[in-house]
Amino acid sequence: MSEASQGRKVVVVGAGWSGLGATYHLVKQGYDVTLLEAGAYPGGLVAGWKTPGGRSVEAGIHGFWYPYRNIFSLVDELGINPFTDWTRSSQYSPLGLEVESPIFQDLPRLPTPLGTFIYTKFQRLPLVDRLSALPLLYAVVDFDNSDEAWCRYDCVTARELFKQFGVSARLYKEAFEPMLLVGLFAPGEQCSAAATLGMLYYFILAHQPDFDVVWCRGTVGEKIFRPWVERIEKLGGKIYANRRVTDVITENNRATGVVCGEEVFDADAVIFAVGITGMKKIVAGSPSLRNRKEFREVSNLGGIDVLATRLWCDTPQESLRNRKINIPHPSNACFGFDKTTGWTFFDLNALHDEYRDEPLTVIEADFYHANQFLPLSDEEIISIVKGYLKTCIPEFAQANIIDSSVIRLHQAVSHFAPGSYRYLLPAQTSFDNIFMSGDWIVNRHGSWSQEKAYVTGLEAANLVISHFQTGNYANIIPVEADEPHIQTLREINKSVRDIAKLVLPDFWLP
Ligand SMILES: Cc1cc2nc3c(=O)[nH]c(=O)nc-3n(C[C@H](O)[C@H](O)[C@H](O)COP(=O)(O)OP(=O)(O)OC[C@H]3O[C@@H](n4cnc5c(N)ncnc54)[C@H](O)[C@@H]3O)c2cc1C
Repeated sequence: MSEASQGRKVVVVGAGWSGLGATYHLVKQGYDVTLLEAGAYPGGLVAGWKTPGGRSVEAGIHGFWYPYRNIFSLVDELGINPFTDWTRSSQYSPLGLEVESPIFQDLPRLPTPLGTFIYTKFQRLPLVDRLSALPLLYAVVDFDNSDEAWCRYDCVTARELFKQFGVSARLYKEAFEPMLLVGLFAPGEQCSAAATLGMLYYFILAHQPDFDVVWCRGTVGEKIFRPWVERIEKLGGKIYANRRVTDVITENNRATGVVCGEEVFDADAVIFAVGITGMKKIVAGSPSLRNRKEFREVSNLGGIDVLATRLWCDTPQESLRNRKINIPHPSNACFGFDKTTGWTFFDLNALHDEYRDEPLTVIEADFYHANQFLPLSDEEIISIVKGYLKTCIPEFAQANIIDSSVIRLHQAVSHFAPGSYRYLLPAQTSFDNIFMSGDWIVNRHGSWSQEKAYVTGLEAANLVISHFQTGNYANIIPVEADEPHIQTLREINKSVRDIAKLVLPDFWLP
């Protein structure tokens, strides 16, 4: 712990993965950190809590994919064991089972993307449709997550990208769009092609095992955030819930305090770790931030509506051997039920310790880009969910819903819309001591979702350390290197682009 960092006051705003990541690293370095969270619990989009009836619920179930190296390393450091084994998954449409995925790391490793292509079991999708993805490999190689690559692809929609590269209509509708709905939470015409290529490469294409996933054996709040928050508090970090930040006090291009209703928290540095919707609200109410173009332009960004439901189902004993419904795989993604909504369902009896011996079937069903569902009553939503489940697994027809929870998340997840890249903020702002973090902040790590949020928290902590020149930098584990053939193809492609730049006029759109 550094002597010099003691007494330096850092205020972190927002207690999701990014805010907790920044706070944890800075308290370990001896900084005086105060974390302010608007909600009643830490965790942000991953928060979990108990219903008045004592049942555990959370704001949607969260998977941890094979490349989440920094989160896995954190969990090891905390000495906790929150995860299930690697799980298999399925995909359903209104016609029934469509796809089954193996545990890719258990199969002989092939150069990417062969393993994904060969080992995934499609029930209906013809080979000719699957082969139509091949030309897209050029875009995968060309998109190297650099600023230039984002500028080249960001204004194009994912749908246009797939059309331009000759992907068949069926492959788009039955494979790529479902992936977008669960990975970027929006249909293809509303996703940036740059975000699409980045997300697909990170979760599926970069290395054969990347699509393998584990889940928490309970809510992430209970299994990870509770012990993590305890560790932070033990190290002297102050975490205050129910504190909504409304403004920042600035002087000579520096933040000196953070305003939270009637309270003001003194600050030598500030890290924002709030989502897009939260940041838009702060900027709208903050004279100091809305004076700056970069913050005002955050108004051009948006969030996406998500719905998380949990159902406790009883089944008459005579209809089933035991009262539990047999669900072949614990995690399942579904498409084709609504035009622009994707959904997933999870067998919590298989995933959560708490429900392993429960006599009821416990199901989480989450809906992404769920705009049209949010105005419905809880009863109407649960009735739709039961109908959809019945389509995938007919035994749900006999289920009586004993209890349920419905959590509506308005504008909650980051929308990587076409053309949004130019408004996303980098970690370093135009203020000397205000830094940004969160899953929508521009960085070059290459990760997505929870892992990216955590990594940006560490990156913001490193900027604070660099600003004060005191403390040790957080060790951020890079994503696994590109496979050698991808590296070679990227180098060739870059050389061709560099030569083209020398000989061709700067005339066309990027
Ligand atoms: C249903 C659902 C399913 C998902 N599934 C997965 C998955 O399977 N795997 C995966 O990796 N990711 C998944 N995600 C995405 C993942 O949850 C996010 O990428 C990640 O949690 C973002 O973390 P964050 O720290 O950037 O922001 P957030 O978690 O949004 O945290 C921001 C925090 O800031 C607080 N805040 C906002 N305004 C203020 C204010 N004015 N003052 C103080 N505090 C404020 C908020 O209350 C919140 O706690 C899913 C998201 C949802 C909603």
